[in-house]
Amino acid sequence: MSHHFRSIPLAMPVLGEAEVEAAARVIRSGWITQGPEVAAFEHEFAQKVGAPYACAVSNCTTALHLALLAVGVGPGDEVITVSHSFIATVNVIRQCGALPVFVDIEPNVYNIDPLLIEEAIGPRTKAILCVHQLGMPCNMASIMEIARTRRLPVIEDAACAAGSSIVWQGQNLAVGAPIGDIACFSFHPRKIISTGDGGMLTTANAQYDQLFRLWRQHGMSVSDRDRHGSSSVIFETYVSVGYNYRMTDIQAAIGREQLLRLDEIVTRRRQIAELYEQHLDDVPDLQLPVEPSWARSNWQSFCVQLPRRVDQRHIMQTLLDQGISTRRGVMNAHREPAYAAPGSARIGSALTRSEYAQDHTIMLPIWAQMGEEDVALVAEALMGAMASARISEPA
Ligand SMILES: *Cc1c(COP(=O)(O)O)cnc(C)c1O
Repeated sequence: MSHHFRSIPLAMPVLGEAEVEAAARVIRSGWITQGPEVAAFEHEFAQKVGAPYACAVSNCTTALHLALLAVGVGPGDEVITVSHSFIATVNVIRQCGALPVFVDIEPNVYNIDPLLIEEAIGPRTKAILCVHQLGMPCNMASIMEIARTRRLPVIEDAACAAGSSIVWQGQNLAVGAPIGDIACFSFHPRKIISTGDGGMLTTANAQYDQLFRLWRQHGMSVSDRDRHGSSSVIFETYVSVGYNYRMTDIQAAIGREQLLRLDEIVTRRRQIAELYEQHLDDVPDLQLPVEPSWARSNWQSFCVQLPRRVDQRHIMQTLLDQGISTRRGVMNAHREPAYAAPGSARIGSALTRSEYAQDHTIMLPIWAQMGEEDVALVAEALMGAMASARISEPA
């Protein structure tokens, strides 16, 4: 096929004139960081997800770092999590001087298997860091039951999960509502809504929220907004060692516009996921992602699992030759040099499903502006690639 074809990217952010105007408005105002836009974005995000507090930071990695610090994770501690996640999930544990303990995932939902958590808990376990991978909510009911019994705080890595929801005690809640102790979001362009880079922490705990605000701004006792609004001179003090994890007002103003688009983006992604299901439902040996009855994914990614005998790279290359971008399954931290070294992590369970998912799943293109004909094209190309892989297989 040498004739011209449409190329289909893996993902694309939804950005328009509203975001351009929002950024311009902030620049014209002359107040470009830690000002009124950050405060407004925090307020609007908290309202949107139903959380008492939201604190904006520079990205989700810094959000996760502050979340772990807030629940007291430090040197010598262990944090239970998955290896099957973007590396940032575990890097932050090491940044606290603690050790990640890896447990396996459930098949087809690609999230931590709650049945494996209990066994991995040890005397040094300080917290559970679960990941709503690819936008699919974790089994929070089971995770929270274990956590409450064992008195462990739960941090939700919700990097990909803005707009996802979960049935919690009979109610339909947005991810970010107080289920775990703290939830952390990302606004990187690969996620659902974007501010370029950016992150948000939500919690119901006022003390945690105070700590986030202190630490994101160098441990400084007075916020820029308080000093700006004060009619008398204020001298700040530095009450603890802090960081520069701030979000700018330019980012926050863009984020406010993105938040207005969130429902529409998620609705559209759900339609695309449904279309993929219609096209691919009957493909032999292709395992489609499973949405548990108590979860609604935002479909940050649409992940399909190939049978063992079909070569992942071959399928991806065949699609790429037709202009279709895909990615392989989520990485496994324990297979990377940074975590393969002795003493850099503890293996809490066999990780066979995590490894299988990395080696045998692929992410198909999914973005809000994607047309029905694009979805059909991807589905056809995938079916063709799988059929040819079957034919070329020795009898
Ligand atoms: C993207 C991602 C992160 C990191 O988010 P940043 O905003 O880029 O720091 C962390 N965890 C998961 C699961 C992610 O997908």
